[in-house]
Parts: sequence; C-alpha cells; structure tokens
Amino acid sequence: MKFLRLKLVGFKSFCDQTELVTEPGLTGIVGPNGCGKSNLVEAMRWVMGESSYKAMRASGMDDVIFAGAARRPARNSAEVTLVLDNTDRTAPAALNNADILEVTRRIEREAGSVYRVNGREVRARDVQLLFADASTGAHSPALVRQGQIGELIAAKPTQRRALLEEAAGISGLHSRRHEAELRLRAAEQNLERVDDLVAQLE
Ligand code: ATP
Repeated sequence: MKFLRLKLVGFKSFCDQTELVTEPGLTGIVGPNGCGKSNLVEAMRWVMGESSYKAMRASGMDDVIFAGAARRPARNSAEVTLVLDNTDRTAPAALNNADILEVTRRIEREAGSVYRVNGREVRARDVQLLFADASTGAHSPALVRQGQIGELIAAKPTQRRALLEEAAGISGLHSRRHEAELRLRAAEQNLERVDDLVAQLE
C-alpha cells in the first residue's frame, strides 16, 4: 500500500483546498517556521484515526478546524483525504476491493467526525485497522514527532517491543485479538444471564 496524495480543506492552517502529491522516492516539505509543515503530518495522523486531541496540539478536536485569520472567517468543518494505492490488496476486501482507496475523515463543529472509504461511511475502527495491517497509522513509529528520538532512547523495554511488533507487521493482529477478547467476555456474560433465567424458570 502506498500513499499517493493528501487532500485537505479547512484543516488547521489549510483553509483552502490543498493537495500534497507524494511522487515515487523521497518527498521533502520545506518552509519557514509556522507555515504548516507539522500540520501536514498531523493531518495524516488524524485521517488515519487519531482520537487524542492532545496529539493534535489542540484543546479539543474542533480545534483542528480552521479558526480564522485576519481576513478569513473561521470554517465550520474540516476534511482530510488520504489517497492510497491498494493494488497489492493490503486493505481487507470486506472494506473495499478497489485499486485506489480514498480514506476521508470529516469533522463538523460540535458534531464529531465521520469516516468514509471511497464514499462509503465506515467506523473509525475500520480505518485504524486498515492502517495497522499496513504497519502504519496514527501511532505508527513511521511518523516521528519532534523530540520522539530522545523519548525512544529513554523508553522502557515494553515500549520498545511495541516498536518491533509494528516493524514485524503484527500490531493489527494485536488489535483484533483485543476486540475478540471483548466480544468473548460479552458472550460469557450473556451466557451467565441465560443460566440465571433458566434457573429461575426451573
Ligand atoms: P516549525 O517549523 O516552527 O515547526 P511548522 O511549519 O511545522 O513550524 P505548524 O506548527 O505546522 O508550522 O503550523 C503552525 C501554524 O498553524 C500557526 O501559525 C498556527 O496559528 C496555525 N494553526 C494551527 N491550528 C490552526 C487552526 N485551527 N486554524 C488556523 N490556523 C491554525
């Protein structure tokens, strides 16, 4: 799976429709302080399912919406789309089996976020798993924050293990195991309730 394009509108400092094309090879983003370089990386993190507004350097998720500038009014929504090459079929077929996937996250002020894959509404979880299976995602070590290298040097062995698991491509399996365990626990509780009801009837 390859990232082809990032499209933003109304996200942080990107008030107008903006498109970042990732050509084969290395893509560099250069610009003066405060021009929005980190905002672009945060847009990638956000569309891949980031749920923490703190990770967006914000005090609430609505803060990712363009807040206005000297001559521009604030917007009421923000939308980020990541266009992916899925010719290797990394994405689960049940989610979408197309060659090109457009993963979109849209937020409306005070109404939360909606995710879509090629126009079809999906759960945040589906998007998070899609990227976890491709060994990337909002919390992927492939996205390196300022100061993160220092944190890694000081990290505990268990935290470093998460990094190796990501590199081995098994973090998606961990998420699925956790979901399966939750469903199993819910099923066990239902069975206990059925046993209680049967005991009452006898
Ligand atoms: P540096 O090189 O200093 O790290 P940078 O190029 O990474 O800077 P960013 O941190 O991405 O810059 O962008 C900061 C800019 O984004 C600031 O000017 C800030 O006002 C603007 N900004 C952040 N959130 C919003 C928002 N919701 N609406 C409008 N502008 C915003």
